[in-house]
Amino acid sequence: MSENISVLGLGLMGSALAESLIRAGHHVTVWNRTPAKADPLVAEGATRADTPAQAVSASPLVIVCLLDYPSVLETLKDVPLEDRVVANLTTGRPAEAREMAAWVAERGGEYLDGGIMAVPHMIAKPGALILYSGSRPAFERYEQVFGAMAASRYTGDDPGMAPLLDLAMLTGMYGQMAGSLEALALVRSAKYPLMEFTTELLVPWLNAMAVQLPQWAKEIEAGDYRTEVSNLEINRAGMENLVRAFEEQGVKLDLLLPMKTVIDRRVARGLGHEGLSGLVEEL
Ligand code: NDP
Repeated sequence: MSENISVLGLGLMGSALAESLIRAGHHVTVWNRTPAKADPLVAEGATRADTPAQAVSASPLVIVCLLDYPSVLETLKDVPLEDRVVANLTTGRPAEAREMAAWVAERGGEYLDGGIMAVPHMIAKPGALILYSGSRPAFERYEQVFGAMAASRYTGDDPGMAPLLDLAMLTGMYGQMAGSLEALALVRSAKYPLMEFTTELLVPWLNAMAVQLPQWAKEIEAGDYRTEVSNLEINRAGMENLVRAFEEQGVKLDLLLPMKTVIDRRVARGLGHEGLSGLVEEL
């Protein structure tokens, strides 16, 4: 079904979102602070709004994708939001999302927050995911529309949940990147071909290791960190070994040393027999 949708914010991401909605056959109204960024979308069939208020009045669903939450507040500050669903896909913190939900509700609107797990060229392609949280009725009303932009997943009525999960996924990613950069620095120090190391050794290893994460989830939810596989004492020794090997190769282990600190702390508490998942209790 074709819907009226307004998109506020036509940066790289907002433009990709608006384009996917136009291509799915919706009536899309667009607004951007710098008006020229709307030109390519208008050429594809979008309607240009001259002000945020004009854009919001054009459609019951308003998708917002701006730089940050202060810019969203600035843009919507004098705009009536009665009977509007505001789906704010701007990246932010959980607390900001909760404040924004209350702010929109005070103005008569329903609120959904969203975390985009994709880069612009992935929008409307397999692999793109957008996490939503906030008003469940609003999500259910527009689930099909959201499906034109990316796979969508509702994560609960706490508006802060989508940004929290977004941040959690980024955290996992940065951790993997940190370890991988250390690995690459070490391998480079020995002049081993990095392409061969990544494609044939590191990537399959990381994939094999990632499979254990649901087991960690089970242990953490149960608060039971007993292990027969790889306890903290063994990992403490492994970390000592890493530190010495990196020193000998002349490579700094800065990105990974905080993990050693936490392992040492937990072992010092007499919990060396537990598994790595127990480190979560130290955080
Ligand atoms: P861009 O820098 O390309 O666009 C930023 C947008 O915000 C522009 O439309 C800009 O308007 C607008 N803007 C900035 N400040 C203000 C303001 N004070 N008032 C009104 N409008 C303002 O960023 P992206 O499109 O890439 O990102 C947008 C959001 O999407 C961000 O929150 C980002 O974290 C998120 N995101 C982006 C991803 C990416 O890979 N690009 C991935 C996942 C999420 P103007 O054109 O006038 O400058």
